[in-house]
Amino acid sequence: MKNTTSLLRQLLLSSGLTLGMSLFAADPEPRVVTPGTAGAPPSDAIVLFDGHDLSAWKSEGGGEPKWKVANGYAEVSGGGILTKQQFGAIQLHIEWASPAEVKGEGQGRGNSGVYFQGRYEIQVLDSYQNKTYPNGQASAFYLHSAPLVNACRKPGEWQTYDIVFHPPKPGADGKVAAGSFTVLHNGVLVQDHVPVTGDATVAAKFSGATPTGPLMLQDHGNPVHYRNIWVRPLE
Ligand code: MG
Repeated sequence: MKNTTSLLRQLLLSSGLTLGMSLFAADPEPRVVTPGTAGAPPSDAIVLFDGHDLSAWKSEGGGEPKWKVANGYAEVSGGGILTKQQFGAIQLHIEWASPAEVKGEGQGRGNSGVYFQGRYEIQVLDSYQNKTYPNGQASAFYLHSAPLVNACRKPGEWQTYDIVFHPPKPGADGKVAAGSFTVLHNGVLVQDHVPVTGDATVAAKFSGATPTGPLMLQDHGNPVHYRNIWVRPLE
């Protein structure tokens, strides 16, 4: 049923139809909590970006990433970027900041995203006093699951995602066993082992359940900053 609903959402979105408020507004608005502080990579982590170079990444369109790297962070520019390495189940730590200068509203304010296996998006958005549909706000599993609470910091402030991802697994019988997302936003639990059923989110680079795939960071046209990105493969 969940699968059918998600597929319907994607079909409606890709065909450009308006969903009205029925699907987007189905979840209640997450309450606001104030987060604490963040941390650094553990000894067994694969560091994907330490603030100095994007050598672990390639551009969505091929070639070197076009993102600007300076002052210990990378700024979204010229297309999304994908890791050269493929990952299955992982623990991911990533830090991001939406633009300090607030422009736009809703989905147009500080939009980016972290796509696991290039297909399942945990939304990056300036959700500080910026309303949008709940399953499209910061730390939502985009169009699948709204966050439990809104733990967003102010525009321009560094924020953390700590995410445990298990990919869905295609079985020999053709059925897909659901994977899962568990997400902490600024140390606050926002996704509690929610199912990943195998249907990709919108604007995904790839689709279909697969054992491994790249991480992708989205260019949604907003100059979001990233730093301190590391993963720990699981299993
Ligand atoms: Mg996005």
